[in-house]
Amino acid sequence: MAKKILIVEDNDNNRSLFQDILRFYDYDVSVAADGAEGVALARELLPDLILMDIQMPGMDGMTAGRILKHDSLTRNLKIIALTSFAMQGDEEKFLAAGFDAYLSKPVNTRELPDRVKEWLAAERST
Ligand SMILES: [Mg+2]
Repeated sequence: MAKKILIVEDNDNNRSLFQDILRFYDYDVSVAADGAEGVALARELLPDLILMDIQMPGMDGMTAGRILKHDSLTRNLKIIALTSFAMQGDEEKFLAAGFDAYLSKPVNTRELPDRVKEWLAAERST
């Protein structure tokens, strides 16, 4: 059965691009445009992997990630933070918030399928 991936991203172009790439690799892809929608879909679908943009209007990705990681239903979902403000120390901040890894934007689309495959195969550390 195809692995389920949820993309939570407010930018239409990025969301479509990631969706197209991952569908091409036969993943079962769902999308949400903000944190609240992302949290609702994550609860409903329990995806194998969530790509969570951090900067979104309304509920941002950091808040959505924290909500999912504090809910027993969703706490074991793998969540990757997509961040465009990659600064030294950011990784610690995202990992401390419960994210499993982070990816700096702009996302290297040629590398994305391999990274997704690695994340799906990885054991959760907590
Ligand atoms: Mg954004």
